[in-house]
Amino acid sequence: MTFVFDIEAECLDCKARTPYRPGLNRCPACGSEWLQAVYDYDAVRRRWLEELAHRPFDLWRYHELLPVTDVPPPMAMGEGGTPLFPASHLSMMLKHPRLYIKDERQNPTSSFKDRQAAVTIAVLKEAGLTEVVVASTGNVAIAYSAYASRVGIKLWAFVSSSVPAEKMREIAIYGTQVIKVTGTYDQTKQVAARFAQERGLYLDRGARSIPTVESMKTLAFEIAEQMAYLHPASRYGGRRWVAPDWYVQAVSGGLGPLGVAKGFRELYEMGFIDHMPKLAIVQSAGCDPMVQAWEQGRAEPVDVEHPTTHITTLGTGRPGRTYTLLYEYVKTYGGAFVRVTDEDAFRAMHMVAKMEGLSMEPAAAVAFAGVIQMIREGLIQPHETVVINCTGHTMPIESHLLGDRWAQEVTAEAALQEPHPGEGLLTALSAISPREHSKVLIVDDHEPARILLRRILQSLGDYHLLEAETGREALRLVQEHRPNLIILDLMMPDMDGFQVLEALKAKPETAAIPVIVVTAKHLTEAERQRIQRMARSLLFKGEFLSDEFFEEIRELLESGS
Ligand SMILES: *Cc1c(COP(=O)(O)O)cnc(C)c1O
Ligand SMILES: [Zn+2]
Repeated sequence: MTFVFDIEAECLDCKARTPYRPGLNRCPACGSEWLQAVYDYDAVRRRWLEELAHRPFDLWRYHELLPVTDVPPPMAMGEGGTPLFPASHLSMMLKHPRLYIKDERQNPTSSFKDRQAAVTIAVLKEAGLTEVVVASTGNVAIAYSAYASRVGIKLWAFVSSSVPAEKMREIAIYGTQVIKVTGTYDQTKQVAARFAQERGLYLDRGARSIPTVESMKTLAFEIAEQMAYLHPASRYGGRRWVAPDWYVQAVSGGLGPLGVAKGFRELYEMGFIDHMPKLAIVQSAGCDPMVQAWEQGRAEPVDVEHPTTHITTLGTGRPGRTYTLLYEYVKTYGGAFVRVTDEDAFRAMHMVAKMEGLSMEPAAAVAFAGVIQMIREGLIQPHETVVINCTGHTMPIESHLLGDRWAQEVTAEAALQEPHPGEGLLTALSAISPREHSKVLIVDDHEPARILLRRILQSLGDYHLLEAETGREALRLVQEHRPNLIILDLMMPDMDGFQVLEALKAKPETAAIPVIVVTAKHLTEAERQRIQRMARSLLFKGEFLSDEFFEEIRELLESGS
């Protein structure tokens, strides 16, 4: 794999630099988990001045400053490139002429988490991962679910039980395994981490992972380009882009502003903008660890163990070092940490819908309530330009659209109980996968076909999936793992499906394993009979969308073959 220009990972603690590669998550020099990507900014600057004008306005436009090699990646579906427009009525009502809305609802799953999901899933796909665990207050799980489904990655989403049912169902409709955790969001993260560790699965590490922070930079890049377009008169001496005076966002864990801050820093370093914006971090009064710390002049958050906000999207009580990094930014470049009540947020939500035509989820409205408050208090000056991130829009999935087994529930306390760590969790989670040990072997020489079959099986249940590219590899995996079901392609170069079937039937220990043969080939009557003697069923490629196929797989695996 090669990047357009080399990328290095720089340790935030010891400053050591190492070449970046996907999955790098610790500093080789000191072991710190806090790394940031560093690029060849001169080279990127020259490239952008030449090429950017000819590229589509989406997130991949800035790919030289993202840790991806395959651009646009196969799961791209219109992420980023959201509009920035003036909030005219709101401006008049507040007597503040320069308010702009960055409408992040217009991303594929209706929140700015699509940036994070698109870049992260692209990186995981390039790294060859097929199963991923996330903890979420809702929107991350929705976004990751959508992108994961497009490239055959199975997702386990751990969400705290206070997340609205509409959001949980939206996660489930994408075929993600939803685990409702009775406990706070911070506990939910712990349960997810333990599950990932016990299963040996990749866990999304939020702000400590390079792709997530990098993804959020694209907000800064887009805003600076769009501000220049909205204010052509403010272009000056060779610099083409314009930073606003303020970037305002409703904040939970703080990944958004962290990435945005890095994005503006890179633009500044490349000479595209002439100043750094101030950051307004707006939190709900019922979960305000950053605001409390800021008010006390502390560089570490004041943890909120039991958030009382009704706005579950913003339920991070322990933001950790992300706060410290934002604190340092605000100390250096200016900004504010402010809190608003849930009631203020709900009022702002109604107001912006009625006056600006934007319906948003309560979390997004927290930013608007924050702006109203900061303008009234004079924290934001009348001449300053303000960009408000309208972070998300909720979309309800009606409950009758899903069956009754779309989520599993565990309690954080049981799952995290000592002194036998893990035992509680495993017991609690054993209900999740009654046929946990069902193994399915997918044999196909064509990668897209394997991904499609993998994705179908991932969405059907919690199966252990094995994949083989050749007949020989398939037989080796059969010997080693004794799968409960084999899905076999007929036409493969070295050893075709017929030969694989014969080899399986020839051995007593593998003769009984059910096989579903799939083929794109037109079969003669003789071939058809040959297959019918040896395989459970025969399926033609392009026929996968049949309920019978799904049912057959389920039955074969649940009958405990
Ligand atoms: C995630 C989210 C936030 C909080 O963003 P962070 O940068 O992670 O703190 C705000 N609003 C919405 C709609 C979100 O989905
Ligand atoms: Zn280090």
